[in-house]
Amino acid sequence: MDENNRSPNRRETFTKAPSVPFDPDAMPVLPVRASSPGEEPPEGLRLGDLGPAAESEPNIRPAVLGEAFDDPFVPGSVRCIACAHRCVLRPSRIGICGVRQNRGGRLYTLVYGQTVVARAEPVEKKPFFHFLPGSYAYSVATQGCNFHCSYCQNWQISQAHREGRVPESRYLAPETAVAEALAAGVRSIAYTYVEPTVFLEYALDTMARARAAGLHNIFVTNGYESPEALDLLVPQLDAANVDLKAANDDFYRHVCGALWEPVRDTIVAMHERGVWVELTTLIIPGLNDDRRDLRVMAEWIATAVGPETPWHLTRFQPTYRLSGLAETPAATLVDAAAIAREVGLRHVYVGNAPEVEASATICAHCGERLIGRSDFAVTEWRLVDGRCPRCRHALAGVGLEDSPVIA
Ligand code: SF4
Repeated sequence: MDENNRSPNRRETFTKAPSVPFDPDAMPVLPVRASSPGEEPPEGLRLGDLGPAAESEPNIRPAVLGEAFDDPFVPGSVRCIACAHRCVLRPSRIGICGVRQNRGGRLYTLVYGQTVVARAEPVEKKPFFHFLPGSYAYSVATQGCNFHCSYCQNWQISQAHREGRVPESRYLAPETAVAEALAAGVRSIAYTYVEPTVFLEYALDTMARARAAGLHNIFVTNGYESPEALDLLVPQLDAANVDLKAANDDFYRHVCGALWEPVRDTIVAMHERGVWVELTTLIIPGLNDDRRDLRVMAEWIATAVGPETPWHLTRFQPTYRLSGLAETPAATLVDAAAIAREVGLRHVYVGNAPEVEASATICAHCGERLIGRSDFAVTEWRLVDGRCPRCRHALAGVGLEDSPVIA
């Protein structure tokens, strides 16, 4: 970006490195001794590439869920417990997500309000099919992500710190985000595009203001939140679409640099704590399209969060490090949906494949067609007070009473 053309409220997230003094007084008085140091975070950006200036910058804020880490060899280490990686950060180091840093023995977020995306979109695009159907959500995202999926569709922003990229961004205070959302006429704010846990502080502040303004909060997440982060989020969170990438460790370890177990636990915890949950699986040829694995996934969903949980099966498009793979054949998606229905899942949708007819919502009890969709729009609405017009079975979901379809 040309320095001379930069407007005052637009700037790169990472510019010059600040000096990072070590201040022992900044450490909490009761250091926590870790039983296991967990994964060592990568070096990520060099110190010389880090951080927009000093703590006076609005995007640099003390982080929540940082705790002192008692490392006898490296004083001033901290541990971030926002996600299941539980990174231990030596002074000046950043976490796996690339946007949380140990500065002077304290954990800081580097991207508070530093949005790379802020725009209104149909909630069906996230995708949510049973949550306020036909409404719009105001999507916000910063850069950074705690996964490094080799097929990430948003790698330019999620993996910016690994790829040496500096996405354009603008500072958007929580109250401004809510004001823009209200002006756009949306019903919710979506924290999305990258894993929102990495910008937890910004999400929490925006969520509180959104709720006060009568808006809902929805997460599009990889499910890697720590239980501590969930405790902070759940009181403000209305719905989550969780990426269910596979139901085994192999895939998560090799493709995403993560583990399956924390994702599993998050999905169950959200469901049990009253957050409306939908699940999405991007089916990648040769990686997670094995019929037995798909059946295991479907069986896990039916058992753990119930057969009326919507499951979106979406087509992989070659991208990022998997640019050499072919896109998912329609037949694979159709077959995967058939397996899921055989197992007993009632609301299985196929996305990103217009030639496959599987975007309508069908009554789980009598098979009546309830909601029709085209692209990301609701085109048909047959629910009456949220129920099937034929058998009166209530459709699982949120905000299903009123038709969004303009006659
Ligand atoms: S959010 Fe996760 S990846 Fe990022 S620093 Fe914290 S524990 Fe590490």
